[in-house]
Amino acid sequence: MATAIITGASQGIGACIAKRLAKDGFDVIINHYPSDGDKEKALAAAEECRAFGVKAECIAADVSKFDQCEAMVKQVKADFGGIDVLVNNAGITKDKLLARMSEDDYDIVIAVNQKSVYNMTKHVTSVMMKQRHGRIVNVASVAGLYGNPGQMNYSASKAAIIGMTKTTAKEFGSRNITCNAVAPGFIHTPMTDGLSDELKAKMLNAVALRRYGEPEEIASVVSFLVSDNASYVTGQVIEISGGLEM
Ligand code: NAP
Repeated sequence: MATAIITGASQGIGACIAKRLAKDGFDVIINHYPSDGDKEKALAAAEECRAFGVKAECIAADVSKFDQCEAMVKQVKADFGGIDVLVNNAGITKDKLLARMSEDDYDIVIAVNQKSVYNMTKHVTSVMMKQRHGRIVNVASVAGLYGNPGQMNYSASKAAIIGMTKTTAKEFGSRNITCNAVAPGFIHTPMTDGLSDELKAKMLNAVALRRYGEPEEIASVVSFLVSDNASYVTGQVIEISGGLEM
């Protein structure tokens, strides 16, 4: 059975990707931030994954921390024998116009969204290289492609992820490891629920399909990218934004 690690998978897009990959037949590792609330949600998501007849394990780790990522990867290797898929999904926002954005607001978003991709990719590729097989999908954002007012930190982290995706594709392609990114637009999740109605209405006007995306619509593209159907696709960024006009 193939194994997939999904970071930040206790809720939102990550939980949805975990369920979709479980439906596709992957054993799934649901990484969650080390808090009681996240653990509870991760356990519920794992239960839903097991309904598809696969194994599902929850691992608490702050993916912005190098040593916690290393320990998680070691645990997965010991429990499952290998790692076929890594989805770098964990992410946060600390939105503020630059004039009000503190150094802490900047640093934490870069650590969670960007450094985590370095941490996880470094440890997981050492396992995938020996297997001579692997699929990595990084969850970027349209903010990384186009920028967004109030998101200097977030758009920097997501733009960096796109560069990291192309670099990973080039460094590991000869080992049969692919790496692609998805760049979601406005998707219904707890992350976007907190935005003001004014901003939501403004964003919707710029979307050709005139609706928000659903987490399942991100998960279906990730499902494709980790499947054999995408065996010759690497270093690409797939925008999933309903046709966002910038
Ligand atoms: P979400 O509901 O807030 O989910 C993000 C998950 O990541 C949460 O479970 C969160 O846990 C977890 N996380 C945060 N920091 C972590 C850490 N240090 N270690 C491990 N896990 C951590 O957001 P979402 O909308 O599903 O977002 C998922 C990904 O899609 C993110 O990378 C986001 O940037 C990207 N994205 C989302 C949208 C959108 O419209 N929703 C658009 C473009 C891109 P806590 O709840 O404890 O923080």
